[in-house]
Amino acid sequence: MIHIAHWIGGAERAGESGRVGPVFNPATGEQIAEVDLAGAGEVDSAVAIAKRAAKQWRAASLSKRSAVLFKFRELLAASVDELAAIVTTEHGKVLADAAGEIARGLENVEFATGIPHLMKGSFSEQAAAGVDVYSIRQPLGVVAGVTPFNFPTMVPLWMCATAIAAGNAFVLKPSEKDPSASLFLARLWKEAGLPEGVFTVVNGDKEAVDALLTHPDIAAVSFVGSTPIAKYIYETGTAHGKRVQALGGAKNHMIVLPDAELDAAADAAISAGYGAAGERCMAISVVVAVGEIADPLVEAIKARLPKVKIGNGADAGVDMGPLISAQHRDKVAGYIAAGAAQGATVVADGRKAEGLPAEGFFLGTTLLDNVTPEMTVYTDEIFGPVLSIVRVGTYAEAVQLVNDNEYGNGTAIFTRDGGAARQFQFDVDAGMVGVNVPIPVPVAYYSFGGWKASLFGDSHMYGPDGIHFFTRGKVVTSRWPDPGTSAIDLGFPQTR
Ligand code: NAD
Repeated sequence: MIHIAHWIGGAERAGESGRVGPVFNPATGEQIAEVDLAGAGEVDSAVAIAKRAAKQWRAASLSKRSAVLFKFRELLAASVDELAAIVTTEHGKVLADAAGEIARGLENVEFATGIPHLMKGSFSEQAAAGVDVYSIRQPLGVVAGVTPFNFPTMVPLWMCATAIAAGNAFVLKPSEKDPSASLFLARLWKEAGLPEGVFTVVNGDKEAVDALLTHPDIAAVSFVGSTPIAKYIYETGTAHGKRVQALGGAKNHMIVLPDAELDAAADAAISAGYGAAGERCMAISVVVAVGEIADPLVEAIKARLPKVKIGNGADAGVDMGPLISAQHRDKVAGYIAAGAAQGATVVADGRKAEGLPAEGFFLGTTLLDNVTPEMTVYTDEIFGPVLSIVRVGTYAEAVQLVNDNEYGNGTAIFTRDGGAARQFQFDVDAGMVGVNVPIPVPVAYYSFGGWKASLFGDSHMYGPDGIHFFTRGKVVTSRWPDPGTSAIDLGFPQTR
């Protein structure tokens, strides 16, 4: 049995709490490793080391920091296959998809190599006679990231690349379901020349997270996960004086207008609905068919379902792997049963899919038609390979549906009408919008974040918002007086 430890002070460190958690290969159903689950004591010692490291690291020159980022980028780019295999083994997603998440994470590292430019402040000469005013941004100190199981590489990279480039020490608490990718990243950071203690991995569950949320030396917490936990992280972290950004769950709608290109819309619904077995926060889980396109669209999606090859993500030619755990697979299956019982038309039932591997946490693709907003398959985030079709009569009804939904992560519109697409961008209450793009994850030089119950806090992740989140501003007002003109003046300073 492989034992997965922490990464503290630039090296692996065995846990001391005596608690461990199981790590499975979801494609075989076997437990392949156990991971240490940190208690408050281990978190405390990790943060103490990070605090010392943060003091040194913030003093490193911008070009030194940038050089480490460049080296890390090269090492990461050269490790894509090896790291993808680790992700596939513990998460289950297919190798190409794992490589895809690493590529998107790599973009964040590339963005962060530009830190000398990103940390620039502003300067106002002669704000008053002989007085200059300028702003600078400085790192926060020790910051923490708490990440979900579904992107074990990309989401940690969303956070750590920016946080570290900005001069902070970063403590990562990855998902206990697939922790090995984080330790792989830790080794790369070390090889890239990052000083010990600037990147730390503390494995664990709620106990470790709570220790971080309440620790006086953690200045900020960046979180990605489900909405109830995001809300808890935001409330607890801010109550303890921390800056918090907490990204939550999603229920992403794809609106298909009657003039949409049918094949492109059906392909997109399949790719975005069933990719990574629906375990993506930007997955499309609801297709809103407007008007007469509904029947042909459902037929076109149904016709494509047999093309989705399900199996072990490590095998060639497989499109969709298993779900993360037996418990989660059973929960998703329960939603399909509830959808059928509540009146949805079951076009394809993943519980009855033929040819699924006997072992492992597999479920076939499910397509539910005539779903209505009261059904639990509509109200809840299922996070599995279940696509719901909601039929509406007009564009206005479609937008109302999206805007009434509790979540507001991503959404997409499929149409050939540029005016309708532009109106949708204006009308819709969601943080990320796709126009004929089903998964509109912003490139690294923009920022990622949803609205409503998909995000607690006011700053999005990575890109310009990431730099802002992991730094704080300081404004300097400066005068270099001519000693000959110095005089006492008890009045309030004025600029005119
Ligand atoms: P999760 O909320 O169960 O866990 C996320 C992290 O929180 C993990 O590190 C976990 O150990 C920790 N955690 C879990 N319960 C906790 C508790 N009670 N107290 C403190 N910490 C706790 O999420 P998950 O199942 O790992 O990931 C899937 C969820 O993440 C989905 O809801 C998905 O939509 C969401 N997600 C959102 C985004 C986004 O950008 N908005 C991206 C990826 C995933």
